[in-house]
Amino acid sequence: MKYYTFGNNLPNGSGDRWSGVRFWLTTLLVFWTFSAIGLGWLVNSFFILIGLITIVPVIAFFGLQWWVKRSIVTAECPVCSSSFTASKLSQFQCPSCGEPLQEHQNKFVRMTPPGTIDIDVQVVD
Ligand SMILES: [Zn+2]
Repeated sequence: MKYYTFGNNLPNGSGDRWSGVRFWLTTLLVFWTFSAIGLGWLVNSFFILIGLITIVPVIAFFGLQWWVKRSIVTAECPVCSSSFTASKLSQFQCPSCGEPLQEHQNKFVRMTPPGTIDIDVQVVD
């Protein structure tokens, strides 16, 4: 026989299966008391807070996905035609051929320094 002397506030899963019920009964009683003495707004704000705590991570999750989708682009390398994903926010190198590239209108373009004439070198066997 084990005795749990922690009281009702500390949940200990296997021991006291009524502690959860007592917790909710106490919570209901506290809410009812608050409502009875005109502190319904406190109860409401508590539920709004619970709602916010629940909703905010969901919004943050989808917001992050939206942001990632907006800030990355999948396209083909203009040099070697290999497809890969890169950030729109910075310059990057093609993982296949190492060509320095940047994003332009959802396509990858070569980073040609201003004033440089871009010549395609054709190797003829
Ligand atoms: Zn490439």
